[in-house]
Amino acid sequence: MVSFDNTELAFAYKTTKELKKAKFLFSSMGIGWLVKLGTRLTPWAIKAHLPINGIIRNTIFKQFVGGETLQETAGVADKLAQYNVQVILDYGVEGIEGEDSFDKAADEFIKVIQYAATQPSIPFISIKLTGFARFGLLKKLDTAADNKSGVEGRINIEALTDNEKAEWNKVVIRLIKICEAAQRNNVGVLVDAEETWIQDPVDALTMQMMERFNKSKVVVYNTIQLYRHDRLQFFKDSLAEAQKNNFILGVKLVRGAYMEKERRRATAMNYPSPIQHDKESTDNDYNAAIEFSMEQLDKLFVIVASHNEYSNLNATQLLQQKNLPLNHSHVHYSQLLGMSDNITFNLAKAGCSVSKYLPFGPLKDVVPYLMRRAQENSSVSGQTGRELQLIKKELKRRRQKA
Ligand SMILES: Cc1cc2nc3c(=O)[nH]c(=O)nc-3n(C[C@H](O)[C@H](O)[C@H](O)COP(=O)(O)OP(=O)(O)OC[C@H]3O[C@@H](n4cnc5c(N)ncnc54)[C@H](O)[C@@H]3O)c2cc1C
Repeated sequence: MVSFDNTELAFAYKTTKELKKAKFLFSSMGIGWLVKLGTRLTPWAIKAHLPINGIIRNTIFKQFVGGETLQETAGVADKLAQYNVQVILDYGVEGIEGEDSFDKAADEFIKVIQYAATQPSIPFISIKLTGFARFGLLKKLDTAADNKSGVEGRINIEALTDNEKAEWNKVVIRLIKICEAAQRNNVGVLVDAEETWIQDPVDALTMQMMERFNKSKVVVYNTIQLYRHDRLQFFKDSLAEAQKNNFILGVKLVRGAYMEKERRRATAMNYPSPIQHDKESTDNDYNAAIEFSMEQLDKLFVIVASHNEYSNLNATQLLQQKNLPLNHSHVHYSQLLGMSDNITFNLAKAGCSVSKYLPFGPLKDVVPYLMRRAQENSSVSGQTGRELQLIKKELKRRRQKA
């Protein structure tokens, strides 16, 4: 039986001082008004060059980010490797604009792949299409899409101007280069899921890449956000499409990180929210997606990307019920750096293939990621409480042992 109760194992890689800092941070993130204020003011203060970088670097950045450069992530990855925990490297550029910046970001992703290939414990990197494609362009393509285009890998470029068509062509070439580098270097590429109003072209392009690169092994993975009420079906349709076109489906299963933004936009623009009505519905679809994956392991590769104890446990139990090994080569687990160490380290101890998702990048570029972590740990019931309780339990254990 896998269990996530062992906090000694979960936090063995953290000193007591580091744990106390984490306790302070999670306590602060439990204060709603502080997070609201902080997430509004921080991006602005950084842009205005106010002297807050030091505070951020020593608190939230240190908890959730692997470093500012690729080299800085090495220490974290080495430490995790001592406990058989692998790493998904995430070069955290978000919200950049301009063709030069996009070219640079694509080159940086290739450098990350080449670096990962030299490291035994970095099997994957993750990318965001918005790291090298203009948001407005994706949005325009999304509007032009019908509801089957994502799954069928169809991208309708008719609505684009000639300049935009050329721009889109560059995006496709950037992604092909990234996937080619990944294939050459035997590193997996996880394409993150983003906002619903740009997601159709992201899905369509990712399906195209899977068809091209996932013939004999999985190089490219799409992300399925089960907080969307249409995604369980999308997942099943994606597998049918993969079967029809003879490629192996790679999927990362997540609940979804943009819930409040999605709901706000749907209300403001008066369209039905794409998000499930309640947490239970999201959980039900997440569980169903895990069960579906475990039934189809000969046809797909699944990454259980969640901090939910039941979701992770459910996956291990389904494997056991089928007499399949916990280290099945088509199942991987992952949690974000700084969160749910009890799940990660106990899964590793049980022999599962598991990683930490390790973002890195210049402080100003990872701010949107940090703000999402702060919001997630504040507004969504459960996570802060869970982290705090675990940290407190471990601090108490250490006090009693001393
Ligand atoms: C390795 C990794 C990669 C990730 N990649 C992505 C990605 O590419 N794209 C992305 O969007 N997110 C991504 N995430 C974040 C993820 O989507 C979740 O935000 C986060 O993991 C919290 O969900 P959970 O499964 O850990 O568990 P829980 O804490 O059990 O669930 C919280 C989640 O449930 C959902 N939820 C909460 N309340 C409600 C409600 N009232 N109604 C409906 N749903 C609700 C929300 O999605 C919320 O984030 C990733 C997470 C991990 C660990």
